[in-house]
Amino acid sequence: MEFAEFAERAGEIEELSADTDIIEAVTDLLASANDDLEVLARFVQGRVFPAWDSTTLDIGPNLCYTAIAHAAGQNVSADDVEDRLAELGDIGAVAASYDFGGQQGLAAFGAGPEKLTVAEVADELETLAHTEGAGSQDTKIDILFGLLNRTSSKEARYLARLVLSEMRIGVGEGAVRDAIADAFDVPVKATERALQVSNDYGRVARVARDSGESGLDELQLEVGRPVQAMLAQAGTVTDALDDWVNVGVEWKFDGARVQIHYDGDEVRVFSRNMEEVTDALPEIVEYTHENLEAPAIVDGEIVAMDDGEPLPFQEVLRRFRRKHDVARAREEVAVELRAFDCLHADNKDLLTAPLTERHDRLQSILSGGVSALTVTDDADEIAAIEANALDAGHEGIMLKNPESTYSPGRRGKNWLKRKPDVETLDLVVTGAEWGEGRRASFLGTFLLSPREENGEFETLGKVATGITDEELAELTELLEPHIATQDGQIVDISPEIVFEVGYEEIQQSPTYSAGYALRFPRFLGVRDDKSPADADSLERVERLAESQ
Ligand code: AMP
Repeated sequence: MEFAEFAERAGEIEELSADTDIIEAVTDLLASANDDLEVLARFVQGRVFPAWDSTTLDIGPNLCYTAIAHAAGQNVSADDVEDRLAELGDIGAVAASYDFGGQQGLAAFGAGPEKLTVAEVADELETLAHTEGAGSQDTKIDILFGLLNRTSSKEARYLARLVLSEMRIGVGEGAVRDAIADAFDVPVKATERALQVSNDYGRVARVARDSGESGLDELQLEVGRPVQAMLAQAGTVTDALDDWVNVGVEWKFDGARVQIHYDGDEVRVFSRNMEEVTDALPEIVEYTHENLEAPAIVDGEIVAMDDGEPLPFQEVLRRFRRKHDVARAREEVAVELRAFDCLHADNKDLLTAPLTERHDRLQSILSGGVSALTVTDDADEIAAIEANALDAGHEGIMLKNPESTYSPGRRGKNWLKRKPDVETLDLVVTGAEWGEGRRASFLGTFLLSPREENGEFETLGKVATGITDEELAELTELLEPHIATQDGQIVDISPEIVFEVGYEEIQQSPTYSAGYALRFPRFLGVRDDKSPADADSLERVERLAESQ
């Protein structure tokens, strides 16, 4: 296909606004693409390379302005181009505003250079991307100049946008997926799955056209080609316990996401954006060689540890970006792997296996560095895991549906990052219960009350979670002298001590005399500096409940 035709069609698509019209236009484009199908499926989204490929053109705006200025003629400088960009706000409009000679000049009469084709643009951009070393900037400018020099105004518009990854014609990934399905009569679902595993719109379009649905179904993950990471939503323990039979709980490590691919020979590490970061993380490469059974693709977090405590994730990101002096960077900040998922092991894809099975698999192929996954329906156990994670200096916890499959690129409801408590409450301890078994000599569950104007204390909930054994002993010592009455395990406590308590939600509830209850309350500490008169009032609790 001539590049002029692509530009024409891109121009038409840009004029459309309804999704269905856009999908129809992309369908037509793909259906008529012939040998250029793979390239067009990418170009129409403003992509030059497949998503799994870390190759970039590595052209900054300045380099692009310089090439445009060269093509525009002697009187135009890169600064002029930049000024015009400030005025027009779109590099495509800027490129289109100059007369580069293309088909308006000699070429229009068949005497000039050959007409530019889509394949040629793709080849030249590939050459440009692989130009390295001394003088490479000039070579890149020359290549781009050579292309621009042959463009009409319309071609220039879309070439400039393509080069700067700013296509902006309204074609998203979903539109290309639907267009592939429509153009080659394959199910959207099969197309979607093929895209997830291959991360390559061009290839999926070609396979759909040449081998249909069965061809798409045969596409599998490939070790060495990253796929999009599964993502998490913010959520609460209450949501997780309500929606799932059991909850998979893990620490939420404070670091940076990686996907590790190991084919038995070469280890490759990719960041959350699928950029290759292998060279920046030699200790992870060594660790993988020594501890992971190949072939495998594992998902996890890289953390920077200092004396058993994680360093802020910015330190980890600095390691990711490091290109020079990696050995020195490694001495300054050493990083470690915390793997939490397994996408592929022993030549089998595991995306559709439940989380628990993937995690078991992960444990069987990676010795050490695997996150602990606890499957439970007990809020206290979840709170204890969270307290440990926070104590260890990590961010909190992830809640995962143990039955869920791995959905690349999805911010679904199957992975929840527990929202931090927004506001805490300072509440008076007005009762408690003696523990059982090993904890029989400790007060365990504490009844909490907000302050009331008349000096009465209505109850709002009990807290039993987030308290270590050591803290239980201390709290018992602190509260025992204030026990007013006792009935079996239940004790009334005179209002003297104030606890700071976290919670997920305040609900109206008949269970406690205040008419409200705290959901997932957790002990955060004793407010030594507060007396019951300084505790939070029932009025504040009511206000918080209303503002949720
Ligand atoms: P956020 O970046 O706030 O959307 O939180 C999700 C991120 O938490 C993931 O992309 C991971 O990088 C990170 N993370 C840390 N620990 C875990 C874990 N155990 N499971 C999944 N993601 C985790």
